[in-house]
Amino acid sequence: MGKSKAELVIDNATEVVTCVSTADDSLGRIEHGVVAVANGRILATGTRSAVEQQTDLSGAEVVNAEGKIVAPGFVDCHTHLVFGRSRVKEYALKMTHSVADIEARGLKTGIPASIEMTREATEEELFSGAMDRLKRMLHYGTTTIESKSGYGISWPDEFKMLRVNQRLDQAQPMEVVSTFLGAHDFPPEIDRDDPRQRAAYIRELTEEMIPRVAEENLAEFCDIYCDVGYYTAEESATVLKGGMKHGLAPRIHTDAYANIGGCSLAAELPAISADHLNYPTPEEMHCMANAGVVGVVLPALDFAVAHPDPFKARPMLEAGMTLALGTNLNPGNWTESMQLVMQLACRNHGMSPEEAMLAATTGAAKAIQREQQIGCLAQDYKADIQIWDLPSFEDIIYRIGNNAVWMVIKNGNIVVRKPIS
Ligand SMILES: [Zn+2]
Repeated sequence: MGKSKAELVIDNATEVVTCVSTADDSLGRIEHGVVAVANGRILATGTRSAVEQQTDLSGAEVVNAEGKIVAPGFVDCHTHLVFGRSRVKEYALKMTHSVADIEARGLKTGIPASIEMTREATEEELFSGAMDRLKRMLHYGTTTIESKSGYGISWPDEFKMLRVNQRLDQAQPMEVVSTFLGAHDFPPEIDRDDPRQRAAYIRELTEEMIPRVAEENLAEFCDIYCDVGYYTAEESATVLKGGMKHGLAPRIHTDAYANIGGCSLAAELPAISADHLNYPTPEEMHCMANAGVVGVVLPALDFAVAHPDPFKARPMLEAGMTLALGTNLNPGNWTESMQLVMQLACRNHGMSPEEAMLAATTGAAKAIQREQQIGCLAQDYKADIQIWDLPSFEDIIYRIGNNAVWMVIKNGNIVVRKPIS
């Protein structure tokens, strides 16, 4: 049998960071590595001679990565990419004022503000705003993104957001993975302290919205905000099981501000991921590790809200949990760079550069059930690759606020190419 023919070869890199863990190196780094690509997939990685043994490199387009670091594209597994408008005024005032002070000036804040602005926006406005952000995210090296609804909280507005997710996925190179988050909050029209009104909205979610989301293939995941002031663990169980009944895999926002049992529920279901995780108990960490629940942690959120109890990565890693990173891009936490998220994860939350890299790639891929397709540079995986203009891997967390990206390849196609200075 002849050798497979490469269409694209990345040659001469200082280091290829495959993110395929070996006994000696969790990142499976290859010095002076080569990556061969064909048909949108990785054909081979290794030293030049190893790759040449397996593949025919003649005639392939060559990218000379001399002096550069090659890595898998980032997977951003938790975003609220689609939203009505910026909340920059609120964020700026928060530097010196309390939320109560800001609201006393007649400015709505938080999720309710985003619900109002998203309901007011047309589908076209939502699409073009999100598209703008997506383009920049690609330039920061992200090649797959998850995007949640959850600023509609009524069927027409949730539908509008999910339609935008669908259109974005088709309209640009990145894959956009859609999550239904109709339970991000309760509708502002209802009295959330009235158990009957809460129950009525939860029925609407499980009996009307979720079946339609599933029928029209508008999302893969069903998510909920299980925290103090939002949904209880019991209500979360009802909604997430309702989603599972219709084939929507469960994810859960929980323990951002208090432990009300969301992590125990995540382990019980089990959920694909539990996100935020500022307050899980050691027992819950073990249960989530055993159940294979990915812990999605959001350093840029803890930074943007100056969280009083930032999440602690070490106990979760020591309990054996797989951690994933996400930007949590939303109007209250406008972050498009997974590089910045890694820098914060290391400096503020005790993750090593290697742990942060795995969380931004393989861990995040697992949080969106794509660990067999993306997140590492292994044979047959999608050729989603970024090349950094950096002298060493560790420079990615060292050069704070820098954009290291020199080239981005999605499905084997060069989609970002920086001018060579
Ligand atoms: Zn979120």
